[in-house]
Amino acid sequence: MKVMKFGGTSVGKPERMHHIAGLVTKETEPVIVVLSALSGTTNALVEIGDFIARGDRNGARQAIDKLEAHYQSFISELVKKEETLAKAKAIIAEHFEFLNIILKISFSEALSKDILAQGELLSTKLFCTYLEEMGISHMLLPALEFMSIDNYDEPQIGSIKVKLTQILQQNKEKKLFVTQGYICRNARGEVDNLKRGGSDYSASLIAAAIGASVCEIWTDIDGMHNNDPRVVKKTVPVEQMSFDEAAELAYFGAKILHPASIWPAQTYKIPVRLLNTMQPEAKGTLITEEAGSVGVKAVAAKDNIIAIRIKSSRMLLAYGFLRKIFEVFEKYRTPIDMITTSEVAVSLTIDSDANLKDILKELEPFGTVEVDRDQVIISVVGNEISQTEDIIKKLFGSIVNIPVRMVSYGGSPHNISLLIAAAHKKQILQQLNKGMFGLE
Ligand code: ADP
Ligand code: ASP
Ligand code: MG
Repeated sequence: MKVMKFGGTSVGKPERMHHIAGLVTKETEPVIVVLSALSGTTNALVEIGDFIARGDRNGARQAIDKLEAHYQSFISELVKKEETLAKAKAIIAEHFEFLNIILKISFSEALSKDILAQGELLSTKLFCTYLEEMGISHMLLPALEFMSIDNYDEPQIGSIKVKLTQILQQNKEKKLFVTQGYICRNARGEVDNLKRGGSDYSASLIAAAIGASVCEIWTDIDGMHNNDPRVVKKTVPVEQMSFDEAAELAYFGAKILHPASIWPAQTYKIPVRLLNTMQPEAKGTLITEEAGSVGVKAVAAKDNIIAIRIKSSRMLLAYGFLRKIFEVFEKYRTPIDMITTSEVAVSLTIDSDANLKDILKELEPFGTVEVDRDQVIISVVGNEISQTEDIIKKLFGSIVNIPVRMVSYGGSPHNISLLIAAAHKKQILQQLNKGMFGLE
């Protein structure tokens, strides 16, 4: 059995849905299709939730109506037969009625998650309606029946496995399953999600849970590129990389993969393939245990980083000092991405300001605390790069004119990270493209 996940742009137009129906029915082995919401939908739902949270019901109603109009025109081209069109209309009516009812309820965090879930619920149901029109046998697997996270927002892989296996066992004769990416239930049984871009994570979790032959991530680009194609003009796809390399790139900003999407596949040894829906014949990127080659594979940038420097002439590097600092971040469940130390100071980075005020207050007794916002982590990733000859010379040689705030080298054999001000991001990515890959 294989998993095929299609992202927002891959389902964002009626003809794309027709096209992916063609792709999934070509398969000889049974398939679980994981779908995102149509492109733009989750952003619109975030906006609707924000309007409601601010008490702007009018704004919310207008945004809901606009989104509904988009879906009405979408289904008019998705399905043709009267019967299936009526079904598609009923699906839209059901979900937009839900959104309109929400307008009358007082806002809560749980309600905002319900709003966000509508995108994937709609896309999967509409896709199934099209499959029905085409006479393609299939079954909708509601993700809310098997995908769950615990109190710490961590997926419960054991329980996902038990539930999913049971559902599949009961439907052995079926060859094509369709399910929602992104959405899940939390420890309180409420509707929740795996964070933005989370459909990749759903796909990897499902692939791990069922022991899939492969987890295919179909998107709008032909694989993981050597640099961020949104920033740098000339980038090229990487044919093969290891789970470790892909995990570093995903975590450090390569948007093609959700930051946590590699570990389930890696733990359960499921190959991951990144493929282009618009160009299915392209090789894409294969991610397995094997790196395929040594040396630099790709560069990624992680935005919105906050750097914190704690300076103390007295206690620093005294035994137990770092532990005390780490305890503050642990208390506020804020992960640290980079860290460097000197005799008198420790610098570290975080990617969320959710608890920054409290963290800073608790750090104060340790010394002078300085904060720099608008920083970017640039990660140079490749198999065993820290042992690759001349790598440091090449790396720093290509960015001599750019001020670097922090460097992390040797933490992982596959990653060298630099912290720079956001203003230099484009320039550094371009210069690294030339210096490390010879691409201009
Ligand atoms: P989907 O909606 O299919 O999940 P995403 O927009 O989440 O698609 O991810 C695909 C996008 O990721 C690409 O269109 C590209 O702009 C961006 N991206 C960023 N870094 C990379 C990279 N290193 N390689 C490929 N794509 C990247
Ligand atoms: N629809 C969700 C989002 O836009 C999940 C995803 O596309 O992966 O974030
Ligand atoms: Mg995505």
